Amino acid sequence: MKRIYLDYAATTPCDPEVLKEMEPYLFEKFGNPSSIHSFGQEAKKAIESARETIAKILGARPEEIIFTSGGTESNNFSLFGVAYALQERGNHIITSSIEHHAVLEPVKILEKRGFKVTYLKVNKFGLVDPQDLKKAITDKTILISIMHANNEIGTIQPIKELVEIAHRRDIYFHTDAVQTVGHIPLDVNELKVDLLSLSAHKFYGPKGVGALYVRKGTRLVRFLHGGDQERGLRASTHNTPGIVGMAKALELCQKNMAKEIEFQERLRDRIIEEIQEKIPEVYLNGHPKLRLPNNVNFSIKYIEGESILLHLDLLGIAVSTGSACTSSSLEPSHVLLAIGLSPEIAHGSLRITLGRWTKEEDIDYLLEELPGVVDKLRTMSPLYNKKEK
Ligand SMILES: *Cc1c(COP(=O)(O)O)cnc(C)c1O
Repeated sequence: MKRIYLDYAATTPCDPEVLKEMEPYLFEKFGNPSSIHSFGQEAKKAIESARETIAKILGARPEEIIFTSGGTESNNFSLFGVAYALQERGNHIITSSIEHHAVLEPVKILEKRGFKVTYLKVNKFGLVDPQDLKKAITDKTILISIMHANNEIGTIQPIKELVEIAHRRDIYFHTDAVQTVGHIPLDVNELKVDLLSLSAHKFYGPKGVGALYVRKGTRLVRFLHGGDQERGLRASTHNTPGIVGMAKALELCQKNMAKEIEFQERLRDRIIEEIQEKIPEVYLNGHPKLRLPNNVNFSIKYIEGESILLHLDLLGIAVSTGSACTSSSLEPSHVLLAIGLSPEIAHGSLRITLGRWTKEEDIDYLLEELPGVVDKLRTMSPLYNKKEK
């Protein structure tokens, strides 16, 4: 049976060229980069070279890159790190209602520990209104954290404009850029953010490694305690193969970006158009233009996303109903509720995300099979049959 992967927003396969780059650091160059001997030094050299590569691509300085275990840690580090560094100055944090759980959960814990949190609403496309941010800022605001692009609906926020508002009031701005780094052009000095999270496994690197960009001078309390790696900011032996792989992965993304964007946008728009043509009562979620090149998200009325997912899986097609982190729970997605969908409609959503190895014929196959699956499920749906009468 054919197996087609259309869930690149959940994770991506490692690029073979990335693995090739990593391999020596798993075997002959396995040294601990904190060791003084030559084994340690060759690993350290590789890490510093990876740091330079990543910094250069992001428009940062090497000393502004801190290696972490992934997007979740980078987000936690930013939120707890700034909150505790600036708690003397204020206790107010602003975020949005559509953040990834790796922002919402740490923020909830900070709320329990006495911080006040404002969750900005989004409009029906999933966009934060800069005027709402302006109004939410108080004298106590110490941090604003708003994601660059949403992992479920693909909407890209006007980060630059939001950062300008933050900086006029002298407030730090963090962005979760896990869905954008390696996928769309991104420069930290153009966005002017103070902190930015990224994760290698979302851009064809290995899992369990990521980075946090921290603008020079940003006050941040350490999060992982132990050794003095990463200039004392983040303990634990460096994941040398992972870090080397992440740098290579980002390099490849940078090299192929224009081509990949063009290809994915074309396939994305073809899917959006044909699904609407072939299936009645489907609604596109997210912004029609300001969206990730590889993201399609639809609500399909009268049926459950989970049923569509399982039926497509039997046909060898892997898609998602929302984010991988929430799709195992039966709660409707907080993102889809935040853009104003009713819980019923939110339950019937389908996310298709494309990537480096997506082929035109994969999309042909999806578009051939999906209408039949929807039809079959609707015939069995009490909601749909009630409507027919
Ligand atoms: C995947 C993802 C994360 C979590 O990253 P990990 O490296 O898996 O911890 C955080 N934010 C967004 C937007 C994501 O898509």
